[in-house]
Amino acid sequence: MNIPFEVFREPAAMRARAEDLRRDGRKIAVVPTMGALHEGHLALVRHARARADVVILTIFVNPKQFGPREDLSRYPRDEAGDLAKARPAGIDLAFCPSAEAMYPAGSQTFIEVRELQQPLCGTSRPGHFAGVATVVSKLFHITRPHVAVFGEKDYQQLAIIRRMVRDLDFGIEIQGVPIVREADGLALSSRNAYLSPEQRAAALSLSRGLGAADAAFKAGERDARMLVAIARAPIEAESLARIDYVELRDADELSTIERIENRAVLAIAAFVGNTRLIDNRVLAS
Ligand code: AMP
Repeated sequence: MNIPFEVFREPAAMRARAEDLRRDGRKIAVVPTMGALHEGHLALVRHARARADVVILTIFVNPKQFGPREDLSRYPRDEAGDLAKARPAGIDLAFCPSAEAMYPAGSQTFIEVRELQQPLCGTSRPGHFAGVATVVSKLFHITRPHVAVFGEKDYQQLAIIRRMVRDLDFGIEIQGVPIVREADGLALSSRNAYLSPEQRAAALSLSRGLGAADAAFKAGERDARMLVAIARAPIEAESLARIDYVELRDADELSTIERIENRAVLAIAAFVGNTRLIDNRVLAS
């Protein structure tokens, strides 16, 4: 059954529609984004489309996950362009609220996933993951999904949301989608739009570092310090790139490890100019 496409801006109206669809027995999938959609986001939409009757795309540049010196005001925004891309990829409804609709005056409740939010991006972006967990939890309450789809590009975010859903009994199935890359390896990101051609060339060093570490892992290297050094080398060779962190951690708990026994994630954050980029690769036997 076809659902007329509609853009919702008010949480109450979106929730009422979602409740109606649930009552009709429809399975709902939600794809939360901050807009500036690229093929990575569209892969999430297609993944959702294959797993639900109704796909809701959310577009919200969430002020609570940006630090005071981050790029909130210049974050790329193009709602009409985003909807033109997302509709043929298979969305049924969109939720595009204002910051005022999401955070009315007096709003003061936060969700924190205490340990998983600490390392990696949590260290250089204090408060970021509390902002993410809080807005995702609100988006879940508003869109009432059975399934929610996130990218493995934001690996720590995905781990945090999985844990939040488990700890707080949301009863929502969380699906992760592999990182979508350009042909040359650069992970797609809305922030790639900030890069000059020279910076884009330097940004390729992140995926090169991950590829080199993965090759060493496949050749038998298991030592964390060695794998991190291998991943760092191409980034350190780029004068336009500056490493924030390169770390190998347990794939589920994000705890530090000295050797890979099982599954680990090699995670990188680096600045290229003023643009902070992230990338990762799971190393598993
Ligand atoms: P964002 O709009 O950056 O908040 O991202 C929205 C969702 O798209 C998140 O679940 C991201 O992990 C996911 N995403 C962003 N870039 C990619 C990519 N290159 N491949 C797969 N998923 C992605």
